[in-house]
Amino acid sequence: MVSASTKRHPIVVANWKMHGDLAGLSTLAAAIRDKTAGLPAEVVICPPFPYLIPIAAILDETILLGAQDVHFEGPGAHTGDVAAAMLADLGCRYAIVGHSERRTHHGETDEVVRRKAAALIESGVRPIVCVGETLEQRERGQTEVVLERQLRGSLTELTADAGRFVIAYEPVWAIGTGRTATQEQAQQAHAFLRECLGSIESTDVAARARIQYGGSVKPDNATDLLSCPDIDGGLIGGASLDAESFAAIVRAGADC
Ligand code: PEP
Repeated sequence: MVSASTKRHPIVVANWKMHGDLAGLSTLAAAIRDKTAGLPAEVVICPPFPYLIPIAAILDETILLGAQDVHFEGPGAHTGDVAAAMLADLGCRYAIVGHSERRTHHGETDEVVRRKAAALIESGVRPIVCVGETLEQRERGQTEVVLERQLRGSLTELTADAGRFVIAYEPVWAIGTGRTATQEQAQQAHAFLRECLGSIESTDVAARARIQYGGSVKPDNATDLLSCPDIDGGLIGGASLDAESFAAIVRAGADC
């Protein structure tokens, strides 16, 4: 058994997806900055690509900039893509990879996710590697098989250092649906992922790696979910578009 008791710094990430415009997201970023100031949690905002630079100018040192995706190749002839080195150049400290919307709508495989994670780590950007089962897979009792396959397929020799990456457990059936995993389902999946990390990497990596939960986290369920011993914060979609809701979730994460 890998101990869940190691103290890990909570991380709460806003995934703004393809929402908003420059004026609205600028106001939102400033409000999140002001409402989360001084809270003992790592706060990351992942705006759409075109808004990375203007949003970066609004954030201060208490909020980190993240991207929602990256290409696994280095700079070159890849029309429409963005390289990890470019994200690093802009000051991005994190980038989401393997989000279920990318896996579903863009056919991204575990191998693509692994290459993206590796490219990010090589550029000094931490990947937030998303894994999660569909409802059908859960109902067929395949949750653990799917999670282990995705985790094994996405890790690289570079993930031997727990400080270089974050895992996000996002049950696909909970993303944007208003339906969340119960405390028990979420804790069970996180403990399982931590055990897998122990066997793939080492017990030290498993104990220190941060695994955040994502899927319809709202202020009224955040404490229940984020207080589970193996949950180290949240990846927040819909509720991150409202400064007060997102700040309440950050407070819940910081208190856990
Ligand atoms: C997400 O897109 O990663 C997510 C968790 O979205 P929501 O919070 O809206 O379910």
